[in-house]
Amino acid sequence: MLLTHFIKRWLPVVALLGAVAVVFAGRWLNATKVGGQGPAEPFRIAGNLYYVGATDVAAFLITGPEGHVLLDGGYPTTARLIMESVAKLGFDIKDVKVLLNSEPHPDHGGGLAVLQQASGAQLWASDWSADSLAHGGDDPDSFLPLRTLIWMGVLGYPAPRVDHRFKDGDTIRVGPIAMTAHVTPGHTRGCTSWSFPVHDGDRVLNVVSACDLGVLASTTYPEQSADRERSIRVLRGLPADIWVTCHARWWGRYRKFVASTTAKNPVDAFIDPDGYRAYLDAAEVELREGRTH
Ligand SMILES: [Zn+2]
Repeated sequence: MLLTHFIKRWLPVVALLGAVAVVFAGRWLNATKVGGQGPAEPFRIAGNLYYVGATDVAAFLITGPEGHVLLDGGYPTTARLIMESVAKLGFDIKDVKVLLNSEPHPDHGGGLAVLQQASGAQLWASDWSADSLAHGGDDPDSFLPLRTLIWMGVLGYPAPRVDHRFKDGDTIRVGPIAMTAHVTPGHTRGCTSWSFPVHDGDRVLNVVSACDLGVLASTTYPEQSADRERSIRVLRGLPADIWVTCHARWWGRYRKFVASTTAKNPVDAFIDPDGYRAYLDAAEVELREGRTH
């Protein structure tokens, strides 16, 4: 009797959660296995900037004589690939002094706790991202079934320790490395783009790591369109010789890497201001047409 009562009462809830779980777990697994994290060859993009991410979920190593910076952590299980890539390039994960993040969804924040444990690095985040990272990816703007799955431990990830919070326009330094944070909300409220210079011979190249500008149906908030409008404008104002984003397929990682292997100067394959403008144009079209991605 008790069991029948229990089933009657909770069956709709369980069925709903089950349906949501199937959709999201499916997407999650798909992203982890296919879209997000096959092993990828690490390589130098330019100067002290290296690619150490997976086939799609990106991670970047910026090296310096007083320690390195690692931008983004992939999924929880991508962390191992990132560490292998760092080692393959001849660097020591223990020399990573600062961890940064573009935004705290599980495909970019998921591996930070593992990377932090391995490196002992300090994690810096924008206010909004800091709260989400510290709660294993929980975001008050995510829709409830998704949050429920995070609370239940089905989604979500081990929470890293957030050591420092920065404000829009702050510069994070490790020795000569200087990375300027641009809080460019829209995809999430704390979404952070980064700008920094790299040296190639005697030329200085401006790098922009642009945050995701698209909207997921699962993460929405009232000021989102206005935020995206402003963020696109901010990013248009940044000089970018080399640009990247948190998903490598958007900036043409593989295509550029292949081109770099035969280029006279491999760095030239990554110089792509037109691609940067096209990325922002496409984001603006998505915004105008009200599309999610
Ligand atoms: Zn995201």
